[in-house]
Amino acid sequence: MIIFFETDINPLNLAQLQLHLKQQGYESNYISSENCCIVPGLIKTESLKQFDCISYFQTIDTPFQLASKNFKSETQFEVNGILMGTQYANIIAGPCSVESEEQIFETAAFLNKNGIRFLRGGAYKPRTSPYSFRGLGKEGLRLLSQAAKQNNLNVVTELMDLSLLDEVMQYADIIQIGSRNMANFFMLAELGKINKPVMLKRGMQARVNEWLLAADYILSGGNQKVILCERGIRSFDPLSRNVMDVAVIPLVQSLSHLPVIADPSHGTGSAALVAPLAKASMVAGANGLMIEIHPNPAKALSDAHQAMSFENFELLLKELNVLQPAIDKPIDATYSIA
Ligand code: PEP
Ligand code: MN
Repeated sequence: MIIFFETDINPLNLAQLQLHLKQQGYESNYISSENCCIVPGLIKTESLKQFDCISYFQTIDTPFQLASKNFKSETQFEVNGILMGTQYANIIAGPCSVESEEQIFETAAFLNKNGIRFLRGGAYKPRTSPYSFRGLGKEGLRLLSQAAKQNNLNVVTELMDLSLLDEVMQYADIIQIGSRNMANFFMLAELGKINKPVMLKRGMQARVNEWLLAADYILSGGNQKVILCERGIRSFDPLSRNVMDVAVIPLVQSLSHLPVIADPSHGTGSAALVAPLAKASMVAGANGLMIEIHPNPAKALSDAHQAMSFENFELLLKELNVLQPAIDKPIDATYSIA
């Protein structure tokens, strides 16, 4: 149950209400950015009549509360002047990993030329094998941020561990939480306290309720800038890296006010399948895409099989432009290509 307050709730009134709830066995959570309190359970509302600060109550019948569309209908925020949210579509592209100055600057210049506003790149990489390339670390973040600045791009990069939060905060415009960390609840709660957008990838085995509850961990800490990213779920079939769940895009949008973007690179694991699934996702209503590209895909140090060449990525942008009438929202990157 959610209790909404009159504006400018006095801290004393709030403390009295929270004490009252506690006496009834409810530990409530006040979210100042939304001016409301989440109470995990159904309270007898008669007992709350004495509290004038309460504006109205709402019960949300899903386990996730703040991510629910019944809580609010839309999410919108700005990242350095670029609008993101339910009404928009933004394209994020770049290599799986930052590998060298040359690679990341070449990629950033190419993206800028094509009207893209977000550069992705991993500096700390979650790799299945400890013997694989695990990223350039801080040097990778520095290169990523310099390449982005020089090309008027925003940085999207993964936070692997809370010990790196300050460092990643310094360079990232959007913090990516990878599939393997979707259920790192302690980390998610800490991300609720920051004022930077968080892109929350779906756990590779996560159900929709689990994914949206993970978003609630961030939202309930006060950070309302959350973007969901579908990146495919584990399959029994060795021929595909994952099952790219396109259906989950409109499904989640029917349940949540949070923007949902699609990552067909990890979703398919195969460069040849990225464009078809990118187009399918956009027509299915995605609020954007995250795509891995590389100046020389065969030489990529991670996820080489799924890296698109610059040429094929340009082709995809042109195709998305053609599909624009079937996509019910403007795509930032395609404004500039005719
Ligand atoms: C990535 O985006 O590079 C990545 C590691 O993705 P995921 O967490 O979805 O596997
Ligand atoms: Mn990758």
